[in-house]
Amino acid sequence: MWQNYFDNNDICYRIVYLKKIAMINDKKLAEFNYKILHNILPCNDNLYKWKKKNTDKCTLCNTKENIPHVLYECIYAKTIWNKVNLSGNSVFSAADVILGTHLGIPDVFITTCISYFIYKKWLRNSFDNVPRNINGVILSLKIELQHVYAIYSHLKCKELCGRLKEAIQLL
Ligand SMILES: [Zn+2]
Repeated sequence: MWQNYFDNNDICYRIVYLKKIAMINDKKLAEFNYKILHNILPCNDNLYKWKKKNTDKCTLCNTKENIPHVLYECIYAKTIWNKVNLSGNSVFSAADVILGTHLGIPDVFITTCISYFIYKKWLRNSFDNVPRNINGVILSLKIELQHVYAIYSHLKCKELCGRLKEAIQLL
């Protein structure tokens, strides 16, 4: 599925598994990545296929809402990713966010934290059946990442904390 989606026959799933699941200490985040990679994370496209929703469309963009849409392509997610440009000269791509192929370990963790944040917002509004509101979301993400920073700073993860600090400063 991901080979077709990203038009890339060269995806090394062993590396993807290592970066996105095995090397993520927080098992809640590793499970989240597992669901993404196996295309079993609830989103309107999947919920429609599972006969749990009567539309596969995004409530904000009115296009098919698959996992890459929720986490990256949606106007809601784009607002966030456009702010967090940790890669320096190039912005994170959808493949970076979903597969983490070209990212270092700290950036895989940070993109996972941000994706999980975007997903939690989607989940809550999906349960309540109200449209997501982008107002205040950047500040909310900043506070979330500050919590993550505090935890990993306590655990003395220097490289990760350096990158986290950069991300927080961009918000
Ligand atoms: Zn959308």
